[in-house]
Amino acid sequence: MLTQRQLFLQHNAQTTLEPLLLEFVKASGIYLYDAEGKKYMDLIAGIGVSNVGHCHPAVVEAVKKQAELYMHIMVYGEFVQSPQVDFAKALADILPPNLNCTYFVNSGSEAVEGAMKLAKRYTERTEFIACNHSYHGSTQGALSLMGNEEFKRAYRPLLPHVHFIKFNKLSDLEKITTKTAAVFIETVQGEAGIRIGDPEYFKALRARCTETGTLLVLDEIQCGFGRTGKMFGFEHYDITPDILMVAKGIGGGMPIGAFISSTEIMLSLATNPILGHITTFGGHPVSCAAGLATLRTIVKENIVKGVTEKGELFKKLLVHPKIHAVRGKGLMLAVEFDSFETNKKIIDGCIVDGFISDWFLHCSNSMRLAPPLIITAGEIEEACKVILKNVDKFA
Ligand code: PMP
Repeated sequence: MLTQRQLFLQHNAQTTLEPLLLEFVKASGIYLYDAEGKKYMDLIAGIGVSNVGHCHPAVVEAVKKQAELYMHIMVYGEFVQSPQVDFAKALADILPPNLNCTYFVNSGSEAVEGAMKLAKRYTERTEFIACNHSYHGSTQGALSLMGNEEFKRAYRPLLPHVHFIKFNKLSDLEKITTKTAAVFIETVQGEAGIRIGDPEYFKALRARCTETGTLLVLDEIQCGFGRTGKMFGFEHYDITPDILMVAKGIGGGMPIGAFISSTEIMLSLATNPILGHITTFGGHPVSCAAGLATLRTIVKENIVKGVTEKGELFKKLLVHPKIHAVRGKGLMLAVEFDSFETNKKIIDGCIVDGFISDWFLHCSNSMRLAPPLIITAGEIEEACKVILKNVDKFA
């Protein structure tokens, strides 16, 4: 009889020729358990998803309750479905007043696709600007915005009229003109290896967008929902986007994404033609119920409060001559080594020791640390000891 691993390789589409092939059967809090009963500390939260921890009881309870009431009943946008309404209202309550209208989709990439269409319709412009080393998803619109030619080349032609600026480079903001429909930018760049924007850069970016009538679209798919030490990354900069995109952590482990804007901007998708953006499963009631339970848990358990200190503790402990830098904000961190080879050996060593991490798409010499936000100081100390042990061994 074939093992699960063999069946996986035979019948599941592969994304690399060397998958990790770890086989997990259970997840709880910050731990994953494999088929042999070995326990692993999850230092990436798969990726940036399980902010409240795996299988949080409140999220599991909400999923069960909603699954028993109803699951799918109608394409998004026609019936009034209280899980969608309650979650959208809860999001509006914690966001600035101009972000009061949510379009739910199924994933981060879909949020990007929807936001791109919305920006085109609202501004009646076709040009987009994105940043070098950006990652916004794998679908063709999102891929068109990716700031790394290596991953795009094989899929051209992609969308025309997309221009790139350097993240954090003030003089590049001049490239935003009255022809630009929208600037898509990660508030904290994730796959670039965790790059933080300067406050004056984000302020100037906001001003330039306003001046040119360009929509500022912030991608908080990876950095939102508490990960950087604030509920949303833009709160660090005292700016507000015209469209906010979220996904990953908002569902507490269930698939859901959203693009959020004002009622006025969002109405452009409902007229000329009607049904400007439609989805069958977007805002699935079970995912929305999970999302609301996740949000309530973050607030009730005050989960965001300790995130900055926890990130600082990682930075304080991860000091070693072979660690070139530890970058990041809150629990969105990158540990830089001299090369991909060194990084990979350390990551693999940590996995053998029961600690899961990985590297970044556009920054392969850096190790990703993005654990569930509920990780404790003691667990951080334990993780850092193991990382340092593997740095000693492999760097
Ligand atoms: N934007 C950012 C910043 C991301 O990190 C990701 C996923 N890594 C996406 C968009 C795409 O999200 P998804 O994989 O859910 O389509």
